[in-house]
Amino acid sequence: MFFIGCHLSPSAGYRAMGETALSIGASTFQFFTRNPRGSRAKAIDPSDMQALRDLLDAHGFGPLVAHAPYTINPCSKDARTREFARLTLADDLQRMEYLPGQLYNFHPGSHTGQGMEAGISLIAETLNEILTPDHTTTVLLETMAGKGTEVGGRFEELREILDRVTLTEKMGVCLDTCHVSDAGYDIAGDLDGVLTEFDRIIGLDRLRAIHINDSLNPLGAHKDRHAKIGAGYLGTAAFDRIINHPALRHLPFLLETPNELDGYAAEIALLRSLRKE
Ligand code: FE
Ligand code: FE
Ligand code: ZN
Repeated sequence: MFFIGCHLSPSAGYRAMGETALSIGASTFQFFTRNPRGSRAKAIDPSDMQALRDLLDAHGFGPLVAHAPYTINPCSKDARTREFARLTLADDLQRMEYLPGQLYNFHPGSHTGQGMEAGISLIAETLNEILTPDHTTTVLLETMAGKGTEVGGRFEELREILDRVTLTEKMGVCLDTCHVSDAGYDIAGDLDGVLTEFDRIIGLDRLRAIHINDSLNPLGAHKDRHAKIGAGYLGTAAFDRIINHPALRHLPFLLETPNELDGYAAEIALLRSLRKE
């Protein structure tokens, strides 16, 4: 099975989002749990959630990825910002239980000048406050570009967070191909080397999803500007290697490229044509 999809909006409902995914040849997808730049979350319609679950089962979808809003920062120096992040993450995890057993990804945060160690410890503290044994969701830390005071640009930083979370079995990692390249990991030129490093520091068993994005900027740029597949510094041949790599090919691949629906459909078709069975 090739689990390939893209970022979609739940604005027309959850079942409708699944139908849209099918219409563009996707076998997984990602969505924001709420407005990515705001905080408001729509009330959940349990029957719509059940309808999506039926559709996922009927069509053999791979794991879905829900994405936390960009605005949350669990390691801000501002206590109210941290509190907002904690409440949002906790509420999202409650909502995720309407779609049991899926993935929930968030950007670890920015330490806003407090230093990496303080940032890491605040993120772990937040996770220890919100994770409960009964949640069925796996919470993913996303690999980041290492922009500004961002936490998670180095594999070691993610490892350190995972080590400090008590319910660590609820945690995993989502690797973003644009971000790791921007962070200085040569995923286009030395995929095996990057995966060996990931395995040594974090463990490949923690890797649960791939954000498949080209990058507008060269290796180590620390910029985080996504490009369409083949239109950036990574290039189509790199994505051929990534989606077919034995250590990665079972994972869900989610496009976060600058596209409308027709552009996503074309990229999904391209990646399907590159996939070796
Ligand atoms: Fe992200
Ligand atoms: Fe991403
Ligand atoms: Zn990004």
